[in-house]
Amino acid sequence: MHPAGTGGGRGYEPVIGLEVHAQLASSSKMFCGCAARGGAPPNSRTCPTCLGLPGALPVVNARCVDLGVLVALALGCTVAERSVFARKHYFYPDLPKGYQITQFDAPLARDGAVSWVSDGGRRTVRVTRVHLEEDAGKSFHAGFPDSASSAYVDFNRSGVPLVEIVTGPDLSDPADAAEFVRRLRAVLVAIGASEAIMEDGGLRCDANVSLRRAGGRAPGARTEIKNLNSFRALQRALEYEIARQTAALDAGGAIQPDTLGWDEGSGRTVPMRAKEQSDDYRYFPEPDLPPLVVAAGRIERLRASLPELPEQRRERLAARYGLGADDAAALAATPRTAAYFEAAAAACGDAAAACAWMRGELARRLSEAGSTLDEAAVAPDALGRLIRMASEGAVSASAAKAILGRMVETGREPEEIAAADALLQISDAGAIDALVAATLARFPEQVRQYRQGKRVIAGFLVGQVMQASGGRANPALADRLVRARLDRADQ
Ligand code: ADP
Ligand code: MG
Ligand code: ZN
Repeated sequence: MHPAGTGGGRGYEPVIGLEVHAQLASSSKMFCGCAARGGAPPNSRTCPTCLGLPGALPVVNARCVDLGVLVALALGCTVAERSVFARKHYFYPDLPKGYQITQFDAPLARDGAVSWVSDGGRRTVRVTRVHLEEDAGKSFHAGFPDSASSAYVDFNRSGVPLVEIVTGPDLSDPADAAEFVRRLRAVLVAIGASEAIMEDGGLRCDANVSLRRAGGRAPGARTEIKNLNSFRALQRALEYEIARQTAALDAGGAIQPDTLGWDEGSGRTVPMRAKEQSDDYRYFPEPDLPPLVVAAGRIERLRASLPELPEQRRERLAARYGLGADDAAALAATPRTAAYFEAAAAACGDAAAACAWMRGELARRLSEAGSTLDEAAVAPDALGRLIRMASEGAVSASAAKAILGRMVETGREPEEIAAADALLQISDAGAIDALVAATLARFPEQVRQYRQGKRVIAGFLVGQVMQASGGRANPALADRLVRARLDRADQ
């Protein structure tokens, strides 16, 4: 049962919808040519347009439109060939024009979804809209000697290109909400549309949450928690807000439709202002920009350029190689892990073994060496050949592991290491039988006991043969040859 359902014995179901803002991977701003990257001295990346000076006109950055379309397509949305920029008015010192250019009733795209498979089964969260907009500047209310009486503003972020992705009210669990943002982030990064660096404000999330009675239809009043910039903050803020709303309703109170902030230090949501209705913003179409037209041909060209997405890759690996959910998810995590796995599987002809070696011995050796697959000196083809050497009995299972360790350390080929370190398994029956004969000659007492019925002593003799071979005899063959000689009366 969900924690919120335990309060007051009445049971509420949380309803959660997210609005995610991601900075587009464009080197210049949304409506001017200023550099969009951070890290520059305050107010050094500004011009009349992003400072909102009178008479300056916006020009749409075509690259940002392409990136926005890619995001929409990757989320399965329908892209509008004609969308409209709108002014959203509010007064804030870091918004010099007094309005933000965004999209309102005619967004770039609608009706997609993010879907993934987890322990709890398939999750699907609708994406109701995707639109383009500009970021605001940044205000500093603390940290300066005169912060008690003055605020500072940096306009470097003003006009930075954002894509906003809005979900339906389809989530009910804070951990799922965080997982949704992880999945969404993976898509944005995979298609190169956004670096989505949360610590830098490159990916931020507003979380809307309300409670409804279990089984009830009409959702209750909702609050909106603004600007959550880590997965942890998102999850904690939602958990806190669900508990707070539950307690308020249980005490007979009502929920005010407020806009809230999240105070990381105290672990509480704090009221910022009464929630605006869209009327408060006095939206109207941006008169300085024509409607945004994206021709069907351009949309299709962008669709064709999309790389394989993480979830598609997971499904493909699971289906093609018969992998379990956990293995498929791990190997599909990045294009690089998937490509490595596919190359290793092709080289050894055994996908299950390639998966087991990658996730087991190779992962262990790499982590011991403080390395990663990206830096690994072991080529997937070399791993595949090692797996084949082990499965064909050219080296024993334990020797194969030792060889992999040397491969990680030195980058040398498995055949070379096996030969140089005398690790090649002896599978030559004649050679092993000679060792067996010599061993039985050394232990006549044990041979006699075996023939008197003490069968278990064969194991000791096989062990002696293995030792005599330096551990390199094929163990199954050694066992068979020892028993064959013991069972023959003449020896
Ligand atoms: P607004 O115009 O107030 O911003 P939207 O319809 O654009 O409202 O929805 C904003 C976000 O709020 C969406 O993510 C949506 O899923 C979410 N949302 C809508 N209704 C509810 C509700 N009752 N409880 C929680 N979230 C909701
Ligand atoms: Mg909204
Ligand atoms: Zn500018």
